[in-house]
Amino acid sequence: MPIRNVKTLGDPQLFKPTVAVTEYGSAVADDIQDMVDTMRDNKGVGLAANQIGIDKRIIIIEVNNNPRYPKQADIPLMVLINPEYHVIGDEKETFWEGCLSLPGLRGEVTRAVNISYQANDHLGNSFSTQANGFLARVIQHECDHLDGILLHQRLNDLKKFSYEKNL
Ligand code: ZN
Repeated sequence: MPIRNVKTLGDPQLFKPTVAVTEYGSAVADDIQDMVDTMRDNKGVGLAANQIGIDKRIIIIEVNNNPRYPKQADIPLMVLINPEYHVIGDEKETFWEGCLSLPGLRGEVTRAVNISYQANDHLGNSFSTQANGFLARVIQHECDHLDGILLHQRLNDLKKFSYEKNL
């Protein structure tokens, strides 16, 4: 399966909300494989389908000794289709977040520490569970992508937006 180009800031598709998935299995298998190959090739920890031009509500997440986030514990590959989350409590955390669609940039974004979320797997089976910390952050970031929102739209302070090399 091909590694695809990641769409970057300025591409209108990144601002367009994605469409719910209704067919599973072979209907999404190639999309998911392309997403995994592209995320790994770009050293991402998450990817939303519209970042590679697929207009579907699919996100993937994986942390495996990632050089862009060296302090983060590993997270096995997760595929979330039609994901939804709810914030638990009011604890929030700020972090210099990156995005494959904003290459070389980081922005300090405040997000909820604890969430519950539900999604379907690649076969359409629904599941629900909770997440906290970095995983909760990545889920919130990727769900934003599905709604056409990029991290710079979440900045509290425009001065906290920087090239990685200057941090
Ligand atoms: Zn992103």
